[in-house]
Amino acid sequence: MSRLPIMSTKRVLTSSSSENSQDMAPVQKKMRNDQDPQKLHTATTVIGDKRPAAAATASLYRPVRGAGAATVAVAPSRGVPKQVKASSAPKAASVKQQAATKPAGTGPTRRQPWDLKGKVSDMESKIRTYQTKIKSLSEENEVLKGSLAQSKTKAAELEREVESQRREISEFEQEQQRLSGVQSELEKVSSEKNVLHKELSNLEQKYKVNETLRESQEMELQTLKMKQSVQETTMARLQATLKETEELVTSLKETVAHQKDELHAGEMERRRLHNTIQELKGNIRVFCRVRPLEDGGLTKHIQLAPSDNKSIILAKTEESHTGKTADTQKNYHFSFDRVFGPQASQQEIFDEISLLVQSALDGYNVCCFAYGQTGSGKTYTMEGEEVDDTRGVIPRAVQQIFRAGAKLQSQGWEFSFTASFVEIYNETLRDLLYSGKASKRPEHEIRKAANNEVTVTNLTYEKVYSEDQVLGLIALAKQNRSTAQTALNDRSSRSHSVFQLQIEGVNAGRGVKCKSILCLVDLAGSERVVKSQSQGERFKEMTSINSSLSNLGIVITSLANKESHVPYRNTKLTYLLQNCLGGNSKTLMFVNISPEPDSFGETLNSLRFASKMCLMFP
Ligand code: ADP
Ligand code: MG
Repeated sequence: MSRLPIMSTKRVLTSSSSENSQDMAPVQKKMRNDQDPQKLHTATTVIGDKRPAAAATASLYRPVRGAGAATVAVAPSRGVPKQVKASSAPKAASVKQQAATKPAGTGPTRRQPWDLKGKVSDMESKIRTYQTKIKSLSEENEVLKGSLAQSKTKAAELEREVESQRREISEFEQEQQRLSGVQSELEKVSSEKNVLHKELSNLEQKYKVNETLRESQEMELQTLKMKQSVQETTMARLQATLKETEELVTSLKETVAHQKDELHAGEMERRRLHNTIQELKGNIRVFCRVRPLEDGGLTKHIQLAPSDNKSIILAKTEESHTGKTADTQKNYHFSFDRVFGPQASQQEIFDEISLLVQSALDGYNVCCFAYGQTGSGKTYTMEGEEVDDTRGVIPRAVQQIFRAGAKLQSQGWEFSFTASFVEIYNETLRDLLYSGKASKRPEHEIRKAANNEVTVTNLTYEKVYSEDQVLGLIALAKQNRSTAQTALNDRSSRSHSVFQLQIEGVNAGRGVKCKSILCLVDLAGSERVVKSQSQGERFKEMTSINSSLSNLGIVITSLANKESHVPYRNTKLTYLLQNCLGGNSKTLMFVNISPEPDSFGETLNSLRFASKMCLMFP
């Protein structure tokens, strides 16, 4: 805004310099003393505007100044600076010249010294001229004063203007500062904008991705909705079916409950009938089993009727004493509930016994003995060998019991089993399931509780839950038996081993219980030792075995005859088994016989012992 006037001022100055440079000089000098260049410019601008007036007065300046200078020159005593005098001297001289030459050309001629009047007149005219000049100078002075006042006013105005422009400038500067702040802010904002822009583009990309995802999900949703509607239809159909099925289930449940009742009644009836059959077969049964010869055949002295599996003939050829008559043959006929030849498999043997095992599960005590001389096959019959086909009665019975017990669970029966294994040697009990230190082996006593239950003190009664667990116990018993014997002392053949499995069944739903014991006994060898040949320990063993085996026979006979006194207490074996013998208990005696001819006597004894029992229950 302020620049335009400044430029115009310059222009004015240059144009006016030729005309007024000399005349204006004093004014300019004075102004420079109390004004800055900017103010000067402004002032000259104003003067420039008044140029015509200044030009008009220009002619007046010259003579005045020249005269002034002359006046100054002729009055050195006034103290005017020499510089000024020197510089203005030529001008004063030229003025003088003009004044001196003028009369020579056009003015009056030089007066005579006497012409005082003329001189006065000249002086007067000079005075008039000076007066005129003074007047004009006074006027000029007035004009200049007015001009000066104007200039001052102008200068004041200009000062104000300058002041306002300064203010403006400082405002501008402030504005500029503010704007620079704004600019940095703007830059910040713009960088933020860039960041936001990037973010925006990122978000846009994400949005696009999300959009695609949303579209695919919408499609999926659509598919799912369709599936849902299909499933709803299916569900409705299924619900209808479910309702029908539920009704069916309700009626079937009723039927099942009814059938369960019938089944239970059937089971109880089966037990009753099974027991009746077993009783009809005899609560005491005797089976005979003939061991095969080592080559698998059968000796001549043992004859089995091919059509009959109940009889056995023991034939003895007696040589003639004189030698003149023919040898006579004596036949001993025996018949038992079953006779098994040497070819009979372990399975065939067990098929017969399994009926009694079933009775044990039904709640009847069962006792199964293996009787016979050493080597006749008692242990083979009761325990058998490890391989499946050769497994004996005990492992098979255990298997049957666990399987049947599991089956009866569906009818509400819960079974629990407790096993024990005891050896009776020389009327002493030994725990075959003992697994502690040999030195700490406890002693055992047979106790009879008030409820007639027989227990053995310190004996291991092991709760068993599986067939394998029982097989483990049988193995432990075998080990315990073998540690007790030496090469010279085959103790197992001279001791009884009694395996007992206590069975408890509860049918809580029907409030029925059953309790029984299955006893499987491998008796000591029944062979008679010639008294003269046995001494000391051996004699004691023999006496003990003989008495316990014969007492067993007596007990069974007493039970069969329903005698008031049954001598259970006579031996440890019968005392231990007293609950399993008698009443509605089932007893099975296996008579094992050896086929070798030199075992004839023992075979005959065994068959006689067994047939005594058989005769009691024809
Ligand atoms: P015990 O226990 O009466 O003394 P074992 O059962 O130990 O007699 O039998 C003696 C031997 O005869 C054993 O080697 C046994 O394997 C074998 N044995 C017994 N009975 C039979 C049989 N029915 N079939 C095959 N081998 C048998
Ligand atoms: Mg044996």
